[in-house]
Amino acid sequence: MKLPFVSLDKLKEISQTYSTPYHLYDEKGIRENARNLYKAFSWNKGFKEYFAVKATPNPSIIKILMEEGCGVDCSSYTELMMAEMCGCRGDDIMFSSNATPAEEFKKAAELGAQINLDDITHIEFLENICGIPEKICCRYNPGGTFSIDNQFMDNPGEAKYGMTREQMTEAFKKLKEKGAKEFGIHAFLASNVLSDDYYPALAAVLFQTAVELQQETGVKIAFINLSGGIGTPYRPEEKANDIFVIGEGVRKKFEEILVPAGMGDVAIYCELGRYMLAPYGCLVSTAIHEKHIHKDYIGLDSCAVDLMRPAMYGAYHHVTVSGKENAPADHVYDITGSLCENNDKFAIDRQLPKIDIGDFIIIHDTGAHGYAMGYNYNGKLRSKELLLKENGEVVMIRRAETPEDYFATLDF
Ligand SMILES: *Cc1c(COP(=O)(O)O)cnc(C)c1O
Repeated sequence: MKLPFVSLDKLKEISQTYSTPYHLYDEKGIRENARNLYKAFSWNKGFKEYFAVKATPNPSIIKILMEEGCGVDCSSYTELMMAEMCGCRGDDIMFSSNATPAEEFKKAAELGAQINLDDITHIEFLENICGIPEKICCRYNPGGTFSIDNQFMDNPGEAKYGMTREQMTEAFKKLKEKGAKEFGIHAFLASNVLSDDYYPALAAVLFQTAVELQQETGVKIAFINLSGGIGTPYRPEEKANDIFVIGEGVRKKFEEILVPAGMGDVAIYCELGRYMLAPYGCLVSTAIHEKHIHKDYIGLDSCAVDLMRPAMYGAYHHVTVSGKENAPADHVYDITGSLCENNDKFAIDRQLPKIDIGDFIIIHDTGAHGYAMGYNYNGKLRSKELLLKENGEVVMIRRAETPEDYFATLDF
């Protein structure tokens, strides 16, 4: 059974100050999870998590993670600005972009961010903008398919990111000639993976590549960035990852591959987004309509502009009718938003307890890639974001959009 982190009593209390819909984040859960990640990788001296800002671009959330020792991973101009506002500089920032506009490299260089080059042609592109920094990272794409124990995980050969193995060697040589002194290697081969074997398998590929690159080019490899990809159990029957098993798995590969090559001082980085935040956020809405035609529908006061994943990927998000956690799930509903798009459904044919108008409907695991993916189709305005603090207090960390926001870019 999947239970929300917030009770009906708490939602009633919140409703005296803030109306639905809103995304609610759980500070306690965020902090505990981040601490466990750092514990699981405490064997590595330079370990650092660079939270993928795109997952939850809110300074209040980023600051919590910074207090737990995290940096940020940015890939756009405004994400860099947000990092700057949060007080991130230099080694607090990874800039892992692709098809990068010149002004974004310029901003990243201004902040002293660690720049991760997505392509070999970006060496000259970057050099012409701001010169080659002493510390630089290259993104690797091994191509083909990525499997663990013959189980297909993802298809890097079809992914637009990174450089081929040959290009990695050439890039490191070029960068060294141009004055780079410390190197990083990055790869992101599979997304939302529910397997404790993914990070160790990815680490083995990157560690082996690092040893080869150091031998071939003589550069000093300072860090290896395992990027994002650790998944979240969106479905109640799915098993959560065990970060301690993952950390230990990566440590074993480190001891097997890097230590014998004299590379025991390499720092491990990651850029987790979903794993850091998804379970610690939910979208709280109110059931405002009930409709019975060829199927039974519940209409909410939120819609796909607040959470796009179901419409975009057909993604499953668990739904709880607050206060009815233990009631029998003896009704079948489609839970919908109000867009003029039939894919605006948070759940289809979902077995749930009887829903009454006015019930609080909690959509789980929206803490990452939830609010962040929002848009304004149909002129719908995005919801607010609230933070449930460790002391139980609830604060607004982003107000809802207003019609003035919607019209602000128009000139008429
Ligand atoms: C999206 C992204 C991440 C975070 O991915 P998650 O699946 O949320 O862990 C990390 N690094 C890069 C470069 C990304 O694009």
